[in-house]
Amino acid sequence: MEDKKTTRNKRRCSFCGRSEDEVGFLITGVNGCICDSCAEQAHEIVQEAVGQKRNAVKSLNLSELPKPKDIKAFLDQYVIGQDDAKRYLSVAVYNHYKRLIQPEGADDVEIEKSNIIMVGSTGTGKTLLARTIAKMLHVPFTIVDATVLTEAGYVGEDIESILTRLLQVADYNVEEAERGIVFIDEIDKIARKGDNPSITRDVSGEGVQQGLLKLLEGSVVNVPPQGGRKHPEQKMIPVNTKNILFICGGAFDGIERKIAQRLNTNVVGYSAAKEAVKIDRNNLMQYIAPQDLKAFGLIPEIIGRLPVLTYLNPLDRTALRNILTEPKNSIIKQYIKLFAMDGVKLTFQSEVFDYIVDKSVEYKLGARGLRSIVETIMNDTMFEIPSQKVDEFVVTLDYAKEQMEKANVSRLQMA
Ligand code: ADP
Repeated sequence: MEDKKTTRNKRRCSFCGRSEDEVGFLITGVNGCICDSCAEQAHEIVQEAVGQKRNAVKSLNLSELPKPKDIKAFLDQYVIGQDDAKRYLSVAVYNHYKRLIQPEGADDVEIEKSNIIMVGSTGTGKTLLARTIAKMLHVPFTIVDATVLTEAGYVGEDIESILTRLLQVADYNVEEAERGIVFIDEIDKIARKGDNPSITRDVSGEGVQQGLLKLLEGSVVNVPPQGGRKHPEQKMIPVNTKNILFICGGAFDGIERKIAQRLNTNVVGYSAAKEAVKIDRNNLMQYIAPQDLKAFGLIPEIIGRLPVLTYLNPLDRTALRNILTEPKNSIIKQYIKLFAMDGVKLTFQSEVFDYIVDKSVEYKLGARGLRSIVETIMNDTMFEIPSQKVDEFVVTLDYAKEQMEKANVSRLQMA
């Protein structure tokens, strides 16, 4: 009798009915229990449901998505200037959503994708644009560097590994990854050296471009889920790139010369063409055309697959000055926050900003140098202040100059 009672009183899983000693362990709730294996099953069901929900959420609704103007306004908060590139990017992303929404086979008009290529000197904000837009995207996004790509057989990453990262950010949800956006940085590094096709195989040139072409065109490629070549045993995942949007960026060092040649002017001395068209020789990048990319060494097929060509302006003094203080997370705002965490109110004399810009221009450091200059000026203070009882620090022009003079300028120039 007593035995029966114990059995009846034994705690049981409210889902499968098994008793405590028939399962690994029981988790007790207010009105019931769940055993380890039911909990695991429940977890799987939840995962599946969430996955479906995620797909459902991502079945985009155009009226709820940010319009090109909204996207640009968001970019404006973080990136100074570069209006042209911002507009092209905003439209491209919006059109990408539209393509994903179009019902398959509804009519004969199929919206094709418009991959983008952004050309601009190093440090003008290409990667920053990509990173910023990533914050507001409704599809998976990743940034990859073209310099790591080589042809199969050489040391380095295979082209397919570009998509590994996309798969990873999509939690290996292939369908999700197939709607994603990939930013390929430093695309100029895979340019063929020179305009003539070479007879020798160049490791980082045309072969890689041919491989990349396959991705851009839209085809099913086998992606190594772990990436790289370190895991030869891994099972490849087929991914269709038809709907993946590719945004490429590159500095294309020296392309101005090609542009100038085409415009029939000469970078060094021009006088003949002066009357012909009024050309702003300080910013030749704005005249970039597909044939310049070809002259630089991209194969025509690749150029054809990157129909949207846009450029970034070189940063002038005003732009550099604005970059210091204006963006939502500008360098100066970051330092103010660092000091505020120690209870110190940090302020700068406005002349200091001009001085920082002067130095960045003088050492040809561009926007990237701004941070190292501010770091040089602030380092001593950041070392001292946390141990001092001060609640305010003003960076004067004299202080900034003194710190810069103390610093090893050659180290800055390496930055
Ligand atoms: P790129 O990819 O063109 O070589 P980045 O986007 O990496 O250049 O820019 C380097 C750094 O310079 C950025 O992290 C940012 O701090 C600053 N920067 C460059 N251009 C801009 C810009 N237009 N607006 C704001 N910050 C910029």
